[in-house]
Amino acid sequence: MNQSTILRYLEEHNIPTKNNKTWDHVKLTNTLKNTAYMGIKYFNKSNLVKESVNPFYKPKYGKLKPRDKSEWLPVKVPPIISVELFDKVQERFRKNKESYKKPSQSQLLSNLVKCGICGWSYSPYKRFYRGYKRQNRNVIKRYGVYEKVAYTCGNRLKQKAHSTKIGIVRCTNSETIAHRLEFCVFTIIREIMTDTAKLKNHLIGFKNKITKSDTKLKLEERLKILDQKLSDITKSEKELLDKYARGNMSREEYVSKSRNCDRESNETKKKRNELIKQIPNLHEDDVVEKSIRHYCESIKSELEDATDFYSQRQLLQKYISQIVFTNGEIVMMGFVSIQTKNYEDPEKNPSTDKIEFRIRGKVKMGMKKDKRDNY
Ligand SMILES: [Zn+2]
Repeated sequence: MNQSTILRYLEEHNIPTKNNKTWDHVKLTNTLKNTAYMGIKYFNKSNLVKESVNPFYKPKYGKLKPRDKSEWLPVKVPPIISVELFDKVQERFRKNKESYKKPSQSQLLSNLVKCGICGWSYSPYKRFYRGYKRQNRNVIKRYGVYEKVAYTCGNRLKQKAHSTKIGIVRCTNSETIAHRLEFCVFTIIREIMTDTAKLKNHLIGFKNKITKSDTKLKLEERLKILDQKLSDITKSEKELLDKYARGNMSREEYVSKSRNCDRESNETKKKRNELIKQIPNLHEDDVVEKSIRHYCESIKSELEDATDFYSQRQLLQKYISQIVFTNGEIVMMGFVSIQTKNYEDPEKNPSTDKIEFRIRGKVKMGMKKDKRDNY
């Protein structure tokens, strides 16, 4: 009988915890390890310390700090179970810790995978299981214990401990063998994310950005305004001359107004020239295009160097923001940073723009055995 079986039994028989709450693994473990049930209740196990994490604030609540076992005060209470049974349970805990449950280890995709159905995080787990073989309807025990590493919906894992009879709806998303998911992810990185042309197909809103980036639009708009202004000035200059020639304006008035026009025209021309200087820059090496190329090239070189677990994990964390897994289908998300120069105000730092990408992929499913691939 394992913990989940006990939990389900308790729920199906409507046995709540002492605080009338629903059971979970932590509560059950604490109960099974509680010595009071076999007749000894310990007091003085911990003391309340008023300690604050931040020295600038006074602690509001105290913190329970465990005392050394020698300071505990045992008191006899009426036992519910025998000492032998209690010891047997503790022995089982100790053995499980030793043999089956390895300490949780981070996997390549830890913290990166999300459940596409309920939104919980997909967590890796490692389990050992005995090999079985089916032969003419008989199940034959095989020698040896196999290791299985898989990613599964954390919510589903938690719900599995509960009885189906208490109305908790389980997440239906499947689990996935770790190396198959990892293989799928690395294939996408190698085949799509290092290829500029292919990656472009997966960028969101990319086409709009490249043809009419915001900066470009703004510059064009400003140029149009300045051109309009220049033509207005020329027009009014002509009108002034016309008026003067017909004798409708004094010489003084004409000189001063025409000077104003000249000054305004010169200022506008200067502004226009500055603006034009910026535009070829934008056209020559399109910032967006360049950023994507740079992105692909840096993944490519890092991928070649990533031969061990830590460098591979680093690469994944750097270039992928999330992977959504839904029954064998994945959507890989990330973004390409675009460094645009700030044309409005050269004193300001260059602004960073992002173009997100989403790449779909399929993970090989099924229970058939396969070799662990090299990425
Ligand atoms: Zn889920």
